[in-house]
Amino acid sequence: MNQTTPLKEELLQRLEWLIYIRWAAVVFIITAVLAAIHIFKVALLGLPIYLIALFIAIYNAGFKIYLNQIRTKSLLTDNIRRFAITQSMLDIISLTIIIHFTGGSENPFIFYFIFHTILTSMLLSKKESYLQSGIVCILAIWLFIFEYMGILPHHSIKGFLGTDLYKNITYVAAISFVFTSTIFIATFFTVSVSEKLREAALKLLEKDRLKDEYVKMVSHDLKSPLASIQSLLEVILGRFAGPIDGKVKEILQRIQKKVEFLHHYTKDLLDLSRIRAEKNLNIKKFNIKEVIDTAAEIALPKIGEKEIQLNIDIPERFPDIEADKELLTYVFLNLIANAFKYTQSGGKVWVRLSQADNVLMIEVRDTGIGIPAEDIPHIFEEFFRANNVAKTTKGTGLGLSLVKHIIERHGGRIFVESELGKGTVFTFTLPPTKT
Ligand code: ADP
Repeated sequence: MNQTTPLKEELLQRLEWLIYIRWAAVVFIITAVLAAIHIFKVALLGLPIYLIALFIAIYNAGFKIYLNQIRTKSLLTDNIRRFAITQSMLDIISLTIIIHFTGGSENPFIFYFIFHTILTSMLLSKKESYLQSGIVCILAIWLFIFEYMGILPHHSIKGFLGTDLYKNITYVAAISFVFTSTIFIATFFTVSVSEKLREAALKLLEKDRLKDEYVKMVSHDLKSPLASIQSLLEVILGRFAGPIDGKVKEILQRIQKKVEFLHHYTKDLLDLSRIRAEKNLNIKKFNIKEVIDTAAEIALPKIGEKEIQLNIDIPERFPDIEADKELLTYVFLNLIANAFKYTQSGGKVWVRLSQADNVLMIEVRDTGIGIPAEDIPHIFEEFFRANNVAKTTKGTGLGLSLVKHIIERHGGRIFVESELGKGTVFTFTLPPTKT
């Protein structure tokens, strides 16, 4: 793997930031221009700047939609980087036009390009980052020179800065030099720091992969002997191998329970390594009710003697969803099974679906034992179990970490709210389904 290239997950996350920052930039541009014209009475041409802000908002909305789509697809990192370059180029052009309408070389805000350079250098490879900085400098210097030579009209900002500086060749040369050197120094530092961080992240990822491999190997090797022990125990407990007395039977039953837990544990470990290693999602369109029903059917028999009421609330004519069916069944199975497991007899469990702002919201709520406030931040960590359950119920602490992993791979988010002794609600989102 090329170490100067960001990893796919990192890229997608940074692209999402960039989109948020761009919204903030649009708001900043409009507010700054409004304030400059109406409060500080600066002579600015507002219209072209508003139009550019609108243009930025439109392409940003397009990028947001595209980003949601590519999250679930197995796009190559190179394609995502090309997407990042397109964004960066459009930003550079838009910023240069804004600078042109706000005083050109006389506008100190030209140094805001540094923020753009830093942010995008974290996204691109070393070569692309320097190339991008070169383009920024060439465009800016062209702008300064064209305005100096009168090829482009100069829009001075009367009431804010000196208005004749753009005609002063010493000033134009000095600002071009300071601007270019600042941009390249910023690129150099960002690229070197990002490269170091990326190398460290790659090492950690490799260690994580080795750990997953190891866990997979061990749990796989444990599976068959455990299955043999389970069937042998069944033979003995079924008295097929001869009579057994009460005390021996009791001990064997205890052993059987422990082996059952070990079997469950190895299954969870295998699921963890298998799902984490899976590169591509198997996206299909399906009815979500089917998946919830299957998950509930599997989870219900496991609650034993407890009497818990399950309510599934899906609005009528709910559209089909697009996701990995097997993985989404796993998500529902875990959340519903947990809700049953951590709720006393007489309690209630709800599964609710709704659609808000084009995002699918799913809620699994229970009236169970709740999670202590200090444990909530750790609840999605691998092997973590809250201190109010650790002694009373058996569990592996793996289910929720995998649930979170699956939801995030689908481009969704998961949240938890809980009150000790009152109940817990897990809410997760899934991106809209394309029609
Ligand atoms: P496990 O249930 O096997 O311990 P999970 O990863 O599914 O592992 O859950 C992690 C921890 O989160 C649980 O041990 C428990 O402390 C807490 N938890 C999960 N779901 C609930 C719930 N519905 N109510 C209360 N606590 C819960």
